Amino acid sequence: MDGKTGVRLVVLHYTGMATAAQALARLTDKDTQVSAHYLIDEDGKIHRLVAEDRRAWHAGVSYWRGVRDINSASIGIELANPGHDYGYRPFPQAQIDALGELVRSIMTRHGLAPHSVIGHSDIAPGRKIDPGELFPWQPLAGDGIGVWPTLKGTKHLITIDHALRLLSAIGYATPLSADLGADILSGSTEPIAAFQRHYRPRKIDGILDSETSALIQTLAPSDLA
Ligand SMILES: [Zn+2]
Repeated sequence: MDGKTGVRLVVLHYTGMATAAQALARLTDKDTQVSAHYLIDEDGKIHRLVAEDRRAWHAGVSYWRGVRDINSASIGIELANPGHDYGYRPFPQAQIDALGELVRSIMTRHGLAPHSVIGHSDIAPGRKIDPGELFPWQPLAGDGIGVWPTLKGTKHLITIDHALRLLSAIGYATPLSADLGADILSGSTEPIAAFQRHYRPRKIDGILDSETSALIQTLAPSDLA
């Protein structure tokens, strides 16, 4: 594997395999071209698979804040969970506690801000949906891991174009991102759905309703919202 240029993100995944043993075998098989820095079992056991200063292959075709080569700029963490294909289920508290401790130490080591912790679905809209709508982003954000938009006051419904501009500023690939190829996404519903999967998980439909609109404005840099 190649060296890394500098860690700017932590990307969270689920393994999406029937058993944790299968996931571990796949992530440590040199021929699969899939790897991650860490794997956390449902009981909280942490497997260190790739050194943090080495590149792991976990992101695939992806984009965040102008960066296409996410593998060179991130630490990838896989959470054992069967995922949507094999029986998606809540992440046990022991697993989330172990994740919280690990991510906190990574953030300290690499000087990362809370917003640097994101999901695979955030960087690959329309292609990936992990770690999914059961992942506890809100309580983790309360502990400084990732961010969460807390609505205050009334926000006006904004246009799709305005929403896409704000989603771009947050980091998402959108049709307005000038440096994107057609391999990343095909329309405007994908980044909206990706945003909902993370920040409004009870309804993920890609439609810019008033709540989604308000949440996007709350999370976007205040000089743009
Ligand atoms: Zn993933």
